Amino acid sequence: MESDLSQAFQEELNCFICMSYLTDPVTINCGHSFCRACLHLSWEDSQLPVQCPTCRKPSQQKDFGTSIVLKKLVSIARKASLMKYLSSEEHQCVTHKETKRIFCMETRIYLCQLCSDSHEHKGHKHCPIEAAAEDQMERLLQQMTSLWEKIQENQENLEEESRVKSLFLDYLIMREEMIRKVYRKWHAAVCEQEEEHIECMSNEGNHVLINLKENEAMMIQKNKQLREMYQELMSMSQEPYVVLLQGLEDMFRRSESMQLSIPQGLEPELAALPITGLTERSNCFKVHISFENLTVFHCKKNLFNVMRRFNSRHQHQDTSLDPAGIYLASWGSQYFVSGKYYWELDLKDTWDWAVGVCTNSWFRNSNKEVETEGAFLLFCVKEGNHSSLLTTNPVIRHYIEKPLGQVGVFLDCEAGCLSFLNIAKSSLIYRYPNGTFSHAVWPFFSSGETKP
Ligand SMILES: [Zn+2]
Ligand SMILES: [Zn+2]
Ligand SMILES: [Zn+2]
Ligand SMILES: [Zn+2]
Repeated sequence: MESDLSQAFQEELNCFICMSYLTDPVTINCGHSFCRACLHLSWEDSQLPVQCPTCRKPSQQKDFGTSIVLKKLVSIARKASLMKYLSSEEHQCVTHKETKRIFCMETRIYLCQLCSDSHEHKGHKHCPIEAAAEDQMERLLQQMTSLWEKIQENQENLEEESRVKSLFLDYLIMREEMIRKVYRKWHAAVCEQEEEHIECMSNEGNHVLINLKENEAMMIQKNKQLREMYQELMSMSQEPYVVLLQGLEDMFRRSESMQLSIPQGLEPELAALPITGLTERSNCFKVHISFENLTVFHCKKNLFNVMRRFNSRHQHQDTSLDPAGIYLASWGSQYFVSGKYYWELDLKDTWDWAVGVCTNSWFRNSNKEVETEGAFLLFCVKEGNHSSLLTTNPVIRHYIEKPLGQVGVFLDCEAGCLSFLNIAKSSLIYRYPNGTFSHAVWPFFSSGETKP
């Protein structure tokens, strides 16, 4: 009778997925319980709502707290089988004919009370076997948690790397077309310089693509390694306590060293190649625009953070908590509706900045966003130790060297387009296509500094 009861009791403590004792059990909304690791793996590729593996009831949540009572019951059951194993005659202490209840941390062997008090074990750390087993289990669970976090991190890096790879490919195509158009404005036929420029850029681009692919392959390899390790830890967690006590040091060491080197995403960047005569030609249209009158510039969203986030490796970050942006910004005292104009700005000492032109309605709109009509801006945003360039309308990430020092803005009202120049390199950062705007536009500059 008693054995039937304990059998029934044990079965209830099994996980439906792995059919072993529940390890770090969690109970989901429908009331069914599973090992945390089993749920992680079974829901990994599923979007919300996920389904209960037993009854298929949907759940709007993937993360659950540990079910403490179940965890304790499992531990009681596992400790009982450990003690049953140890109290059998064949596992008793040969010398003293006693059940071994003490665990020696130094030698990792089981001892009876008398052996534990012997001279041989003087100065050793000894503890009850049951406590040692529970402790070992906790260490194993901690290792699994941190490894799972690394698996997620690596997975996100991998997805991001493949997104960057495809954005970079599109960027190369867009840039080649743009550079050819600039040359074509000055030369009717393809000139030698144009070909050299494109060839140099393509070579560099291909090199970057190779690096991106290699990095991606490293991440895939890492993914495989981490998962194998996770499976290994998981199988260990299903073993009886007596096996856990044999020592997991080597396993923990391997798992820890594996987590130290997670491949990080690359920041692809092309060199700013010069276009002969670019700045000289622009200089013919040079005007002086004073950006000295700083205005307080209110936005419902922090535009620099919006751009930073667009560029961020972790796209799912929530923007709703972002504080509104209040910056010092300046716009030129005059607007332009016809003709060609060129001006330069010194951005040497600025981390974040935005330059370009905007329409009156955009500037006056307190709800302004970077995607809204009316802002044609080049943003430079710093993240970590890297700065990225982005333009608005539509938002494009530019994989090109950041200008150090002066940036030139060339406005062509006739063609309805705008270009940004890296002056030190006599290089083109970006040129909007012809016909981008037809309204009057105002020069704009913001250093991203918030109002003191
Ligand atoms: Zn399980
Ligand atoms: Zn269920
Ligand atoms: Zn003994
Ligand atoms: Zn000892």
